Amino acid sequence: MNRTPSASIRPCPAPVQGGAGLIASRTASPRGAEPTESGEWDARRELRSVQGPRKRRRSPEKVRVELGGRQDKKRNRLRELQPLQTLCQGAGEGASALEVDVDQYTGPVVLTPEEDGILPGEIRVIPSGEADAELQEYLVQDYMQQFAVIRSLPSLESLVDKWRLPILPMPLRSFSQRQTLVLDLDETLVHSWINEGDHEHDLMFKVSLVTPDDTAVFVRLRPHLLYFLEHVSKWFEVVVFTASQKAYADKLLTILDPGRRFFKHRVFRESCVELMGMYFKDLTLLGRDLARTVIVDNQPQVFGLQVDNGIPIASFYDNRDDTELLKLLTFLQKMMNTADVRPLLQEKFGLRRMIHG
Ligand SMILES: [Mg+2]
Repeated sequence: MNRTPSASIRPCPAPVQGGAGLIASRTASPRGAEPTESGEWDARRELRSVQGPRKRRRSPEKVRVELGGRQDKKRNRLRELQPLQTLCQGAGEGASALEVDVDQYTGPVVLTPEEDGILPGEIRVIPSGEADAELQEYLVQDYMQQFAVIRSLPSLESLVDKWRLPILPMPLRSFSQRQTLVLDLDETLVHSWINEGDHEHDLMFKVSLVTPDDTAVFVRLRPHLLYFLEHVSKWFEVVVFTASQKAYADKLLTILDPGRRFFKHRVFRESCVELMGMYFKDLTLLGRDLARTVIVDNQPQVFGLQVDNGIPIASFYDNRDDTELLKLLTFLQKMMNTADVRPLLQEKFGLRRMIHG
């Protein structure tokens, strides 16, 4: 099939491997920032260069929803298209995002960010139904091998000690009402490589993978990453769960999120279940209610032990026009107030039915 699905999270073929991270032998040349005295790049300056100059874009075809009670022509136009209350449920004074009923509205929506220099992003809201059916057809084609891996998995009870303690502390009181959003790192949020070359990178740092500070790591951020993280970190308890080596991932996450504003917890390879040379992410290890936990990963097999909790996302390598995080943001916005995420995820992606028939 050559058509592009209009569903909100479009997967692309992914290799069957254990999510080891630092996989590709892409190369890079320095761009933008100069290294500091310690030899590392100034992450903040680099991140600003990734975001680009602060500016607002308007397109005559797009509908922009102004929050905080302001009225303008665009809003009036939107009111003509749909009753506003179906689009802005709960969007109060000072709110920065919309509660969009995706089953009621099929048009484009621009989320208005807070005044912190983040560019507004266009969100295309797609209803369920036909779009989901088309998406699920893609999932079957693209992830057939990974689905086979999931079918071959033994039961969770046979893999882990049921008496083990959760790896995460209890959530803070301010987070206790939030769902937990578990994010993969490599090819979901960033693409990293270690061999220098002529590929453009956004970050570079050195890490001790073999001998102290011997490896230069080049990183490309997925488009709209910071915008995405700014929003989900206000909606969810965000956990990054990566099968990559801790030495690399922890350093990268510290550069991306030095104040731990985005990621409340970091979980690395040693916490994965290793089986058949592959790494699997067991969500029960986190100690959170599975009805309120969702994992986003570019390789569905890694959440094969809890397929009802997974959102597959297309792998990111170098597409500067990638908008998957914006599409994902729209879906998460719909999901964040549901009592149990699993029925919604199964309706959207149908992974269990595709895997087990
Ligand atoms: Mg990955």
